[in-house]
Amino acid sequence: MNNILGAHVSIAGGVYLAPARGLEAACDVVQIFNKSSNQWRAKPLTDEDAEKFIAAQEETGVRVVCAHDSYLINLASPDDTLYEKSRAAFAEEMQRCDFLGIENLVMHPGSHIWSGEEVGLKRIAEAFNRIIDEDSDSRVTICMENTAGQGTNLGYRFEQLAEIIDTVEAKDRFGICLDTCHTFTAGYPIKTASDYKKTIKQFDDIIGLDRLRIIHMNDSRKDFATKVDRHEHIGQGFIGSDPFGYILNDRRLTQIPKILETPKDSAADDIANLKLLRSLVKAKKGKK
Ligand SMILES: [Zn+2]
Ligand SMILES: [Zn+2]
Repeated sequence: MNNILGAHVSIAGGVYLAPARGLEAACDVVQIFNKSSNQWRAKPLTDEDAEKFIAAQEETGVRVVCAHDSYLINLASPDDTLYEKSRAAFAEEMQRCDFLGIENLVMHPGSHIWSGEEVGLKRIAEAFNRIIDEDSDSRVTICMENTAGQGTNLGYRFEQLAEIIDTVEAKDRFGICLDTCHTFTAGYPIKTASDYKKTIKQFDDIIGLDRLRIIHMNDSRKDFATKVDRHEHIGQGFIGSDPFGYILNDRRLTQIPKILETPKDSAADDIANLKLLRSLVKAKKGKK
């Protein structure tokens, strides 16, 4: 079994164009936004959109393994209007994933905006309970992403993600997306093999590796524990390339899709980062 590697690709011009962009960038799989990431409104998807989307994945062999939610959504917002708007928008994103057959929806848990971490975590869980209650047929796995902890962002400690899962009713509907840059700048050491092992063990003890659905492979433009979220090309940031090798050669993680969200001017950037990642995979001796 080989690592499944890919990148976040654009949906400009239509969601069905994403798989070809992935193929151009040497991706096995891709992540997309299923609507514009900085707008509340989205044009409804048509049957034709869905058909073309499925056909494009078959033609290219590039599967869309996850969508990433809009940056406007804040399920921890203390402002009732924004909270309701976020809840409706997230529910719509789940419906769009279902409609397109996308299994995983990666999302940032939310920002408490100085209302307090515990209050924020409860609001997120309550929003999830209502969303799932109102759309119980959905097959989408909600993948909460760990964050860098910038500003009042929640989800920078594994305990916070575990607490949300503990509080929601439909626990089987939840997975985790682990972002390497966020993990590192949130203050989890991963630079040496032993630090990496300790951090993954903490994740396993607190959340459980069985919840891990997606890994975001990003180097960091900011140093350890700075709580700042700035992605960098693999090997060119404060993380360096070694920790990506620990991940790629960790047999427990082989089947978890690994997605780049590194800076991109053209497909060439993803091609270079993916080439570097693939070069870090140690050849298995005696096996083809
Ligand atoms: Zn994210
Ligand atoms: Zn990420």
